[in-house]
Amino acid sequence: MDPCTGAMIGQVPIASSDDVDRRVEAAWRAFNAPSWRDLHPLARERMLHNLADAIERDLPRMAALEALDTGKPVTIVEAVDIPAAISWLRAYAGWPSKIAGRAGSLSATPGHHHVYSRREPIGVVAAITPWNFPLVLAMWKIAPALAAGCTVVLKPAPETPLSALRLVELAREAGLPDGVFNVVTGDGSTGAALAAHPRVAKVAFTGSTATGQAILRASVPDLKRVTLELGGKSPSIICADADLATAIPQAAMGCFFNSGQVCYAGTRLYVHSSIYEQVLEGVAAIAASQKLGASADRDSQLGPLISARQLERVTGFVDRARAAGIEAMPVSTAVPDQGYFHPPIVLRDVSSDAEVAREEVFGPVLAAAPFDELDEAIARANESPYGLAAHVFTKDLSAAHRASASLEAGTVFVNCVLLADPAFPFGGMKMSGIGRENGSEVLDAYLEPKSVVMALQ
Ligand code: NAD
Ligand code: MN
Repeated sequence: MDPCTGAMIGQVPIASSDDVDRRVEAAWRAFNAPSWRDLHPLARERMLHNLADAIERDLPRMAALEALDTGKPVTIVEAVDIPAAISWLRAYAGWPSKIAGRAGSLSATPGHHHVYSRREPIGVVAAITPWNFPLVLAMWKIAPALAAGCTVVLKPAPETPLSALRLVELAREAGLPDGVFNVVTGDGSTGAALAAHPRVAKVAFTGSTATGQAILRASVPDLKRVTLELGGKSPSIICADADLATAIPQAAMGCFFNSGQVCYAGTRLYVHSSIYEQVLEGVAAIAASQKLGASADRDSQLGPLISARQLERVTGFVDRARAAGIEAMPVSTAVPDQGYFHPPIVLRDVSSDAEVAREEVFGPVLAAAPFDELDEAIARANESPYGLAAHVFTKDLSAAHRASASLEAGTVFVNCVLLADPAFPFGGMKMSGIGRENGSEVLDAYLEPKSVVMALQ
């Protein structure tokens, strides 16, 4: 469906468990075939760069597909999504020639030994991805997996399968051997068949906490390796001394970007009471200035939510908050009369026990509250069962470092938002996930260490 209109744009099959089995077997054969397994590291690097080149050449078309499928403004897809996917691929394309074990000796055993470790690709990787950044979040998995020498079966979200299907064509064009990169389209049943397949060695998942838990349960019989990037309810703390010219727009867009459909969106805003009204007015003004519009319209800043179901879900959260007596800042935004658009909402004086302060809404809904002491703000920030990201806005270095150490989050952003990068690990503490993507750390998820212990006569 086109989320900007609700009209059907195409049909894509729901793969059966037999289809899944065929793709996993193909990935298994490719994993063990000399054309991939014995490819020397620089040749693998070249192949990944070839794929990055192919996406780069295809950028207008890939962006058009992704924009059509997600409904997000095409200008953003062209400037953010597709370039990010290319950057990730290039960042990991440099790894194959640098992946190495280490040599040493035994520390508690007498005699002479030569000991070394190898880092071996883990096998077939299942990548299961959501609809908010389809190509980007797929590439967070595909790029390090292929760099490590694994093969991949990707299952994109049923809402957004198109960029994954285009990527298969580009992989062929780039010369990846058959079966190295595969896609199966489908819904939760397809994902479940993939996650339970005995030939899959590792599942890399981004999506909801409930589905992440189901995948972790499904991993038990085969003890599959699993990394989970799940939900969040990330706090932003604005201290009294913060540079408001930065903090206000950052905090606003940290929540509203991509219409709030961002796993690490800053959706809880704690503001020092001395600047609370000023910040809320500023954030509401930015909300009001956003142009909601169709993805093909080059003036659009915010697109629709992904589906009627998500619109209903987000509307439900806002309605229940209002019914509970929570006030919204007055923001009048023109909302297109078709499609699944939802205006940005700024809720004020939200107490920690309110549903909208606890649960992930996944829409442009900000829950604000004042605080008096930084320690109090940190404590409230940490009350959440989630721990994906946290944000602090201050000019005080001590406050920034103290908060960064105390906040329970996989990433702490100081005076900035939304800066995921292939250079640093990203992932969640607590209910926000298991393991890390990005950085050199993610490679550990796709490599199995093997120690070789040799006695010397
Ligand atoms: P979901 O987690 O159910 O879907 C994500 C992916 O998992 C999709 O590809 C889906 O087909 C697949 N899947 C579903 N059930 C599966 C199963 N049992 N085994 C294997 N794969 C399965 O998310 P959703 O239903 O599309 O969205 C619901 C909520 O999830 C949203 O409102 C939002 O709160 C959250 N969400 C989070 C992210 C994120 O980036 N962390 C992304 C999308 C949605
Ligand atoms: Mn779609």
